[in-house]
Amino acid sequence: MREFEWIEWLSSRTAGLDGVSLGIGDDAAVLDQGRFDLVALDTMVQGVHFRLDFSSPFDVGWKLLASNLSDIAAMGGRCGPYLLGMSLGKDADEAFIQGFVQGLEAAAKALVPGNLSVGPIGGDTTRSPGPTILSLTLLGQSPSKTSAPDSVSRASSGAVLRSGAKPGHKVGVIGHLGGAAAGLEVLLRDAPGQDGPWANLVKAHRRPHPWCEMGELLGELGLASAMLDVSDGLAQDLGHILKASAVGARLELGAVPLMPGVKECAEALGGDALAWACGGGDDYALALTAPPEAVAQIEALAAQKGAPVAWIGVCWEPSKGMVWINKAGQRVQPGAQGYEHTFGDKST
Ligand code: ADP
Ligand code: MG
Repeated sequence: MREFEWIEWLSSRTAGLDGVSLGIGDDAAVLDQGRFDLVALDTMVQGVHFRLDFSSPFDVGWKLLASNLSDIAAMGGRCGPYLLGMSLGKDADEAFIQGFVQGLEAAAKALVPGNLSVGPIGGDTTRSPGPTILSLTLLGQSPSKTSAPDSVSRASSGAVLRSGAKPGHKVGVIGHLGGAAAGLEVLLRDAPGQDGPWANLVKAHRRPHPWCEMGELLGELGLASAMLDVSDGLAQDLGHILKASAVGARLELGAVPLMPGVKECAEALGGDALAWACGGGDDYALALTAPPEAVAQIEALAAQKGAPVAWIGVCWEPSKGMVWINKAGQRVQPGAQGYEHTFGDKST
């Protein structure tokens, strides 16, 4: 497929997005004024973030959109349209592009059902002499500012920032952790059970499930004082909230919500379930803080939406730092460090 044919094919599938007056086809897209005020970008590089022997083109499209949806959800926002940057390496043929776009479309339908704004409004397509590099820029809409109680401070836009946690606020996690790291380990070791007992873990690696509706509702109802999505390991990502909010926290390792099967998988493969949960990447759970009086309301909302919620600790004065406690009440360092790209050495 030539570039203009592919663009025509894509634009024929994406007409009429809510909030967009002109999508693909001109030099720039035109949005309805004053609507989308959040922007997030995520990039996936073949060989670094995905392997085509572990993930199908469909999975890659799903995960690229899912990771961006998760970022907007973590601001308490409503997801909107996106721009797509594609630098196609030699493996990226027509079947790759079609599978990839189908994965994007399926993720939008499954992860933000009923949202008529999520779809492509433009982008750029080039060849890459090396790996395939895919990037997606997602727009979103901040929650309104009105409903937050006094104990929850908000950005001027209404977005939920990392910086709003206060001593006494509870630390919670929406979703399960460790599944994506366990699934990747199963694939890396080519372990048996990929289609059997570990199928949900492999799926967590290939097609993560961000908590879009929960994020949006927590934002809209003003229940979270700080929030982020867990994409680089819980321990590291929680550190970002604590630093931005200038608070410390006491956290219980035993309360970290493991995805079903992670413990058994770690036992079978000789891995460390808590290290996968606290240091592994790509789970796209939401970590949040909330004033104690919001806890019951968050639990009721999560139950109504079928979202798992776990309370893993409480914020305290910054001088006490971030302290993890095991079931025996001893201070511990939770497993491996989160996944952080380092520049200038071979480990990137
Ligand atoms: P220009 O050279 O003016 O940038 P292009 O030929 O690159 O135009 O793009 C034509 C149209 O197709 C534009 O609306 C652009 O946003 C859209 N487009 C190009 N590549 C992509 C892509 N990968 N995904 C979505 N839209 C794309
Ligand atoms: Mg262009």
